[in-house]
Amino acid sequence: MATRILESRFEHLSVNDENDPNDGTKYQKSKITSSSTTSASQLSQTASRANLLKIAVLNQNTTNTIVSVPSQSSQWRSSRADFDDGARAERKSAATYEDQQTAPKPKVFHLGMFEIGRPLGKGKFGRVYLARERSSGFVCALKVLHKNELKHGNAETQVRREIEIQSNLRHPNILRLFGHFHDSKRIFLILEFAGKGELYKHLRRENRFPEWKAAQYVSQMAAALKYCHKKHIIHRDIKPENILLGIHGEIKLSDFGWSVHAPSNRRSTLCGTLDYLPPEMLKPGRDKNIYSNKVDLWSLGVLTYEFLVGEAPFEDTPVMTQRKIARGEMTVPSFVSAEARDLIKRLLVLDPEKRISLDQVQEHPWIIKYCVKGERATMRESKSTGSKNSSEE
Ligand code: ATP
Ligand code: MG
Repeated sequence: MATRILESRFEHLSVNDENDPNDGTKYQKSKITSSSTTSASQLSQTASRANLLKIAVLNQNTTNTIVSVPSQSSQWRSSRADFDDGARAERKSAATYEDQQTAPKPKVFHLGMFEIGRPLGKGKFGRVYLARERSSGFVCALKVLHKNELKHGNAETQVRREIEIQSNLRHPNILRLFGHFHDSKRIFLILEFAGKGELYKHLRRENRFPEWKAAQYVSQMAAALKYCHKKHIIHRDIKPENILLGIHGEIKLSDFGWSVHAPSNRRSTLCGTLDYLPPEMLKPGRDKNIYSNKVDLWSLGVLTYEFLVGEAPFEDTPVMTQRKIARGEMTVPSFVSAEARDLIKRLLVLDPEKRISLDQVQEHPWIIKYCVKGERATMRESKSTGSKNSSEE
C-alpha cells in the first residue's frame, strides 16, 4: 500500500543525463501506475535493497580505515578538478588512468539509471527528489547539488566531508548514503529515502512532543551518536532540521556537512547553529573553541528540551543566546516531568567532562520508563523489514 502511494508520486519529469551513452540529451520518464508493477516492486524491494547495497559496496573502498574515501572519490576529485585549474585537471586524469589499471572496474552510477519522482525538498545548494534505481526498483532519495553554487557558497569541503563520512556509516538511525556520481554541472547523492520527512516539521505541527515520543527519539539519537563517536565522528550540527524520520517514524540522523572525523577527539573550529552551540565553543581565552565529542551531548540536551518544550532553551537575540549558553542559564517549564528535567540538566552541563555519557543516557530512568518496550518493538520491526541487517553496530 505504502509502495502504491509511492508509485503515484513518480510523475513525468525531464532530466538531462550527460553520462548515459544510451540517452539522447533528454529522457522522458514513464509513469508507473499498473498494479502488477506495484506488487512486483513491493516483492522485490528487499532484494532490490540488497542489489543497490551490492552496487554501493562495489563503489567503496574495502579498507578498514575509519573514514575511507569512497571509491567514487576519484570522480569527486575529478569534479573538484573541474572547478580548478589545469594542474588539478592533470592530476584527475592520472588518477582515473591509475584506477582503470589497478582496480576492478566498479559499476558506476549515472542519472539514466534512475527514474526521478516528486521533489522531496529544497536545501541551500540544491534539490532532493524521490528516485528509483531502474534495474533493481530500489527507491531512494536523489540529492542534486550544483557545482557552481557549491563553489560560490564555499561549500565544497562541506559536501566532500558529507560524502566521505556519511557513506561509511551504517546504523538504523543514521541516513544511509549509498553512493554518488556527477556530471559536468551537478553532483548527485544517492540517499536512503526517509519516508516521514523532516522531524522539524512534525515538531512544528505538534508544537511539542509527548514525553513517550520525545524519550524514544532521544534514545534513538543516543544510539546513533554512540555509533558515530565509536567511529570517532563528531556530528556537531544536531538540531531537528537535520533529523529525518523513516517510514516507521524512526530517527534518521542526517546532514553530516559539519561533522568531523577527529581521531584525537579534539577539534577547534567554530561551526554549527547558535541555539545548539555548546559553551566550550564560546569560551574566550587560551582554550578558545577547543572541544570534543562532548559537544554532541550538549546538543542532545538542547534537542531533548526542544522536543518537550517546543522551543530551544537559550532562544533569544543572538547576543543574549550566547550569554545564556555561556552561563548555562535556562529554566525547564513545570509541565516537564522530573525525570526528563533531570536528564536535560545532566546533559546541559557547562563542563564538557561532567556531562552524562551516552551509555548513561540510554540507562537514564526517563529513557527506561518509555523506551525499553518501544525499542524492542522497533527492533522487531526493523528485523522483519531487514533494515537491522544493514547495521554494523
Ligand atoms: P542543507 O543544504 O543544509 O543540507 P537542507 O537540510 O535544508 O539544507 P537538504 O538536505 O538538501 O537541505 O534537503 C532538503 C529537504 O529535502 C529536507 O529538508 C527534507 O525535507 C528533504 N529531504 C532531504 N533528504 C531526504 C531524504 N533522504 N528522504 C526524504 N526527504 C529528504
Ligand atoms: Mg539537509
